[in-house]
Amino acid sequence: MTISLETAASTNASSVVSSHFINGEWTDAGGPTFPVHNPLNGELVGEAAAGGSAEARAAVEAAAAAFPAWANLAPGARQLLFLKAADIVERRTEELVELMAVEGGASRAFSSFQIRLSAAMLRQAAGWGYLPAGDVLRSDVPGRTATVTRKPLGVVAGFTPWNGAFYLAWRTFLLPMAFGNTTVIKPSELAPRSAGLVHAEILEEAGFPAGTFNVVTHAPGEAPAISDVFFESPAVRCINFTGSDRTARILGAQAGRALKRMVLELGGFNPVLILDDADVEESIRAVTFGAFLHQGQVCMNSRKVYVHSSLHDEFVAGLKARVETLKIGDPRDPAVIIGPLINDGAVEQIAARVQDALDRGAALVTGGTADGRLYPPTILSHVPADAICSTGADETFGPLLVIEAFDDAEEAFRASQNTPFGLSASIMTRNRARGLDLAARFDTGIIHINAPTMASEASLPVGGVKDSGWGRSGYYAIEDFTEVRLTTVSREPGRYPF
Ligand code: NAD
Repeated sequence: MTISLETAASTNASSVVSSHFINGEWTDAGGPTFPVHNPLNGELVGEAAAGGSAEARAAVEAAAAAFPAWANLAPGARQLLFLKAADIVERRTEELVELMAVEGGASRAFSSFQIRLSAAMLRQAAGWGYLPAGDVLRSDVPGRTATVTRKPLGVVAGFTPWNGAFYLAWRTFLLPMAFGNTTVIKPSELAPRSAGLVHAEILEEAGFPAGTFNVVTHAPGEAPAISDVFFESPAVRCINFTGSDRTARILGAQAGRALKRMVLELGGFNPVLILDDADVEESIRAVTFGAFLHQGQVCMNSRKVYVHSSLHDEFVAGLKARVETLKIGDPRDPAVIIGPLINDGAVEQIAARVQDALDRGAALVTGGTADGRLYPPTILSHVPADAICSTGADETFGPLLVIEAFDDAEEAFRASQNTPFGLSASIMTRNRARGLDLAARFDTGIIHINAPTMASEASLPVGGVKDSGWGRSGYYAIEDFTEVRLTTVSREPGRYPF
């Protein structure tokens, strides 16, 4: 349940105090809370319960108690719940657009994209309960039959990020739930409603059984109190983490000690190769979208473009012209494409990386000067290889794109692979066979030919390799959130060596 915040300066729909959602109840009303601010102007947009280990334990217990019934629920009953939730998401579109704007700085273009993907994923997952649950295998032993069935794991505990929070939170719990697991979510403290709490409202209204989905929120800096419980609880059989590689390394060490299965959806350094036979206009459109959707704060945003030198000048001039038409400002204005960065630290990171490149001799094509949290789409060319934004060693999480000209496609390809990340990449070419041959050699979880590095669809398996993590979305998530059970039946007496 959410309560209107009487004292909030703004009376918009997002000014609410949110409780934890545990075992089908909104708990802890009147307990400690922490404020959530609009990244654009620092306005208070809500408060959320400041929880810790006690709430996390209660949530895990509720999820564990709900597991057997949820795992055995008839596929038709589960299907109706998911379909109903999809309808509620669409009905609440306007309110969700507002929420994502004031909590995360998301433009209407980005929030609408997330709402569409979320409803699509719910509707697809609704049917998975009817897909084959296993296989019958042949045995060399006379009279023996072997069957393999997919079984849910138990409780899956999820961490959600603040960026793309609405869709990514669905991805974090909906995929495990569709395969029969129950869940506990710890949303990002920067966007607790769009990263989990609003989902609890939707599932509650849809009629999901108590305990199947639980949300515990925490004040900034207090995440470990909750995550420690996840790692320590035997009932939690899998940790589903979406966030930075930095946090994943901390949690991964804990998972190692606890021998806990972990799914990791991390960042990327997603290159675009524009070959000499590419359609320049199409490349400009794809790169503008791929690099600057959500101000470059999406894991799959393009970070570096390698463009053939014969197309370089035309591409850069066209990209600059297109990017400079993107309206910057308050994302509640439907015409705005570029909203604020999430916090001052994000602005400082981009500014420092731009300055580092300029100090080393890079050329500024456009952008480069912040107005508060508003940082314009920024393009750098002639960037020395050792500039931080160009090396590929670290993700630059904001609206900064590096462009590099090449003469030899093979060299450009090799340079594009010189990064610890392996999430997404794009090749722009009119020769699809050439594109496919090159694509086959990319060390990434995703490679698009003639599309942006950000080309998500709910049905497609998104995920990374190397430091971008492992695990896949869509139906392929069955590999992450179920385990294979082997059952054999023998009809004849055994033949044993002793
Ligand atoms: P983050 O790593 O700071 O936070 C992610 C989650 O981990 C949050 O819930 C946060 O509260 C929690 N967390 C942070 N420190 C913790 C700690 N010490 N102990 C326990 N929990 C902790 O990431 P973010 O800034 O929220 O998100 C942006 C990052 O996520 C970027 O690197 C982006 O590329 C990545 N990301 C990846 C995908 C993907 O699908 N591959 C999608 C979205 C975001």
